[in-house]
Formats: sequence, C-alpha cells, structure tokens
Amino acid sequence: MNSINTGTPEVAAPITMSAKEAAAAAPAIDELSWELNTLALKKDDQAQLAASMLIHAGICDIFRVEEADVHHLVAEVMSKYNETTFHNFAHAVSVMHTLYLLFKDIKGCWEPFEVVTLLIAALCHDIDHQGLSNSYYQNSKKAIGAHYDENILERHHIATTMSILTEGRSVLSVLSEAERARFDDLVEFAILGTDMSFHGTQLKFLQEEYKDGPQDLEALKTDPAKRKKLMQSLLHTADLYNPIKPFDVTREWAIRLQTEFNQQCDLERQEGLPVLPFMDGRGETALAKGETGFISFVAKPWWEAIAAAFPVVKPHLDTITNNVEAWKSLIPTEPDTAK
Ligand SMILES: [Zn+2]
Repeated sequence: MNSINTGTPEVAAPITMSAKEAAAAAPAIDELSWELNTLALKKDDQAQLAASMLIHAGICDIFRVEEADVHHLVAEVMSKYNETTFHNFAHAVSVMHTLYLLFKDIKGCWEPFEVVTLLIAALCHDIDHQGLSNSYYQNSKKAIGAHYDENILERHHIATTMSILTEGRSVLSVLSEAERARFDDLVEFAILGTDMSFHGTQLKFLQEEYKDGPQDLEALKTDPAKRKKLMQSLLHTADLYNPIKPFDVTREWAIRLQTEFNQQCDLERQEGLPVLPFMDGRGETALAKGETGFISFVAKPWWEAIAAAFPVVKPHLDTITNNVEAWKSLIPTEPDTAK
C-alpha cells in the first residue's frame, strides 16, 4: 500500500520504533481479533498464524496437500520478505489476517478454492519488497527482477510468487491444469489490484455498483466475473488495514511507513532523483497531518464503499473516525496571523 502525506518537511523529531517486545504467542485461530498486531508476534508465530489460516480455510482438502507442505510454503514465502521497516513479513501476515476475517464475516458467496487462493495472494502480495515505491523504480530506471514498464513492484511480487509456487515442493503440484490456470489468474489479478494507481477505478466501481445499497450475496455465486472483481477489492481493503486498528497499533505502522518513505527520499536525493513531497514529511506533525489526509481522503471513502457493499464491516467505520480524530488532535493549531 501507499500513503498520502500532506505535511511539509520540518525539523525531524526523533521517531523511536515502538515495536513491542515480540513476546506474544500466535493467537488461536478461533480467537482471532481485528485488533491483532502482528508486530507483537515473533516471526515464527507470524508464520504459524499464516499457516493456520490456510489450513483452517481448507487448503489441505482443496489443494490435496499435507499440513507440512503448507508450513513449507509459508517458510519459503517468509524467507523472501526483506527486513524492511513497513513492507515486511509482519505486514503481509496483517493483510492476510484482515482478509481472513473479512471472508469470515462476508459469508456464503465465495468458493473455498477462491478463499484459499486469495489468502495465498495476500501472504505474497508484497514479497521481496525492498522498501522502495514504484516512483523510485520509474525515475531511477533500475530494475527489480525483470524490466516492467508499469505496476513494477506488483509485477515483481507476482513473478516471485509464481516462481516459488512452481519450483520445487509446491502446494500447487497436485492441482489440475484448469485449477492451476484459475489459481494463477486470480493471484495475478488480485496482487495487481494492490497497486494504489488502481485505487480510484476500483473505488468508482464499488460506488457505482452499490449506489442503491447492498445486493443479494447469493447472486454472486453465479457471477464469477463480479466475484473476481470483489475479491480483488477485498485484498486491497485488507492492505488498508491500518486505520481499523486501535490507535497505538495504527500509529506504530504509520511511523514505520513514514520511516520507509523518508529513507527512500534520502536515497533519491543522493541519486539526484525527484522526491515526492508526500513521502518526505518528517516528524510527528507531518505524520499526524499525513495520516489525517490519507485516512480522510483515501482509506475512509474506501471502507465506506466496502461497507455499502457489505454492511457487516460497518463497525470499522467508527474505529476509522476515532483514529482520524486522534490524528487531528496531534496537529498543533496554527497561530492565527490574520489581522
Ligand atoms: Zn501491502
């Protein structure tokens, strides 16, 4: 995911990474809460949680594999995530966990094969992210993996995912050709949809489609094309998990994203590349302004559109409102210079 930071650069306040002591154990699968902070879990427990979600979603029956194969897949995916500040394995597990709970709440319209496929897409959606955004690759002309002209990162995440899933021991090895084609198509479509450049088009689709309110979920069962679009939207929704978390959790992720953005700006300056002002906000005030802008103009309208389609997610809108108010309260009032 990306963010919009409306703040102007200012003297950087020291930002200490407030990651909690990674001491909490992986939560039981039937006790998963929306408030979960994966940063508070040890890496092995993050992996355990990811495997449990796949196993609980039925991967062993649907893909005809053993639990050991699932653990092997998760370990391999984990090893391909870098220790970046934000786009790391804990972020991937948070996205997967949010998607898992969305699928749990929005019931009855997805096929189990699709749910398992989308959970794998969520786990892999930022694989081998190096803490640099598409704008860096576009401006520097440096390649990540193969050369791509657009959706550079997302295409790299898809290619890396497919190579893991094709080589060696794979959870896809027993799938029929038709199943494999369906899996590839859905994973590619869903991960591509996490590029923020598609946010506006996806939002318009939801707003138009659900302008008269929610529709019968049963009808989705016979509409695979629409289901596919909605699943893509749900992965993008899960990627925007940050504003639905308790404020201390949301703040921790926001600081991490700001740090990663700032590091990119430093590199861009070193290399003489253009710097995007929204990534260059430094310090607490810029953080609060950036988050207020991002939530008000990007995340909240998106979650409202999802809630119009699936009213079961409506309670998250209150959390989002509370978080935006909390961010606003951290912005110092400008002295009134008007005479
Ligand atoms: Zn992401």
